Amino acid sequence: MNALRSEHISSRLWIAMLVIVLSVSLIGLPLIVSSYRSYQKSAEALQEIQSLKIVAELANKISKERAPANNVMSSPQTDAQQHYEALKKYRAEVDVQIQSTIQVLEKTGQHDIAQGLRQNFLPALRNGRKAVDGYIAVPYAQREMRRMDDAIVAMFHAWDPCYEALQDIVRNAKSKDDALSNYYILILLLADLRDQAGRSASNIMAAVTFNARISDENLARSMQTQRQTQYLWQLVGVIQPDSAKNDQFQKLYQQVKDQFLNQGLPIVSNLMDDSLKGQPFSKNGPELTRAMVGKFTTVVDLQNYILETSVSTAYAKQQNAQKEFIYAILMVLVSLLTVLLTMIYAKKWVFGPLILAREQLFNLAHAENKARASEKKAKADASIFDAISRLQARLQQREALEFQLKHIAHSDSLTGVANRFALDEYIKLLEKQPSQFKNTCLMLIDIDNFKHVNDSLGHIVGDLVIQSVAESLKSCMRASDLLVRYGGDEFLVLIDDISLDTALRVAEKIRRTVLASELFQSEEFAQVNVSISAGVAVGAASWMALLARADEALFRAKAKGKNTVSN
Ligand code: GH3
Ligand code: MG
Repeated sequence: MNALRSEHISSRLWIAMLVIVLSVSLIGLPLIVSSYRSYQKSAEALQEIQSLKIVAELANKISKERAPANNVMSSPQTDAQQHYEALKKYRAEVDVQIQSTIQVLEKTGQHDIAQGLRQNFLPALRNGRKAVDGYIAVPYAQREMRRMDDAIVAMFHAWDPCYEALQDIVRNAKSKDDALSNYYILILLLADLRDQAGRSASNIMAAVTFNARISDENLARSMQTQRQTQYLWQLVGVIQPDSAKNDQFQKLYQQVKDQFLNQGLPIVSNLMDDSLKGQPFSKNGPELTRAMVGKFTTVVDLQNYILETSVSTAYAKQQNAQKEFIYAILMVLVSLLTVLLTMIYAKKWVFGPLILAREQLFNLAHAENKARASEKKAKADASIFDAISRLQARLQQREALEFQLKHIAHSDSLTGVANRFALDEYIKLLEKQPSQFKNTCLMLIDIDNFKHVNDSLGHIVGDLVIQSVAESLKSCMRASDLLVRYGGDEFLVLIDDISLDTALRVAEKIRRTVLASELFQSEEFAQVNVSISAGVAVGAASWMALLARADEALFRAKAKGKNTVSN
């Protein structure tokens, strides 16, 4: 059996505590790690979608720069300066936007995208602007349609790398495989839709400005952009999940159809018809720009809506993930704290008292041996069960001792037979059933002339006589009979369930046995005869009555001359 020592209990308690803490940590840690990962992922997704938004906005601005640029290039000389001021102002805004976009990208670690914008987009934009500025610098009389169209196309090329940056962000996006993926596609589609929509008008701008026939190439380009616009618009409707097609989306989506597709594009188609029919254009350049710009707004509104929704969705997801992460940490901490508190409570209020009780048990079990030097070691080596069995053994010893003490208290020290105290106890028991006395025999036996024995042979021999008489009495009795030394030289015998005749016979046997005792045959007793007289009584209503009858019987025996039995 394993020893359960105090220090063992204590260290096992600590080990149990450690195991529980480790188990809780093992369960809790993956929870924390996974919730942290999903938080990290959602934070990354939010950052990605924010980058996408800012680059999409930049792409829009670049698309939109074509409007003031076209205005300057297509306006008559009188308005040229005013439009040029507007263009410069717009370019300045775009430049600020470019810088802040690049900064954001750098800050969010998207160095490749930022670098791509610097290396591809900025030179392309510079080229586009240079082409526009180059065209504006040409005196009106020397201006050519071809060159204006080239400048317009150069501005198209400024947008392309910006769109590529957008595609790169989506390509690199780690979170595009989750619920946000639709937004990535929608943002790409809407940026493209916005640009294609603008191009449909820009493709015929030079011809309209010069009031010349639209070249076949430009016609083809414009037709292609119009078709692409329709196609992209339909794709947007297909990709946006039905669950996300709320009233706001439906309204904006319908507005693109009503205002841009149904009203904006026909303006371009009509001008193309004018050219095919050889008629003068119904609108000049600035008029075309003005008419179209308002229609693009619907596309931009839809795009903004998608951008805002995607950012707020990503933000909500990130907030949720953050909350879950915090909950996971709190949950694990609370569990750990609960375990710790429970263990501390158990240690203090359950195991502490148990250990103390054990110590006390040991101290009790080993109390008698305290003085011994080897005791300390014995104590350390012993188990609590040893202590319990020791205490058990000691209790048994004590019981035996108590039994002995009781026996001593109940017996006569000279003869070893029961004393009056024992008799009293026995009588108390019998008195609970007074009917018992009906068949009980009581004998009173008294040594005859004992004073004389004492006087002639001395008290010590007198004691021997008493002992000898007691032995004779014992030899005549059964185990169930009670023999009591009632007084100095007087004995009392109680026999259950016996008739008077038999009782008298027993008394007679006693008398004779005493007479024949070996001791009394010795020389010392030559002068002294030792005999007994016995008074016998059987059955009475009470103990006192029985005792009185036996006493009277004894008196009669003495009166008859002693050494006799009477009833
Ligand atoms: P009787 O025949 O009438 O009984 O005469 P008795 O001399 O025996 O008279 P009694 O019974 O009155 O005397 C008992 C004597 O026994 C008195 C006392 O000194 C003596 N005695 C009592 N207890 C002891 C004892 O323990 N040892 C000795 N040696 N003597 C005792
Ligand atoms: Mg006597």
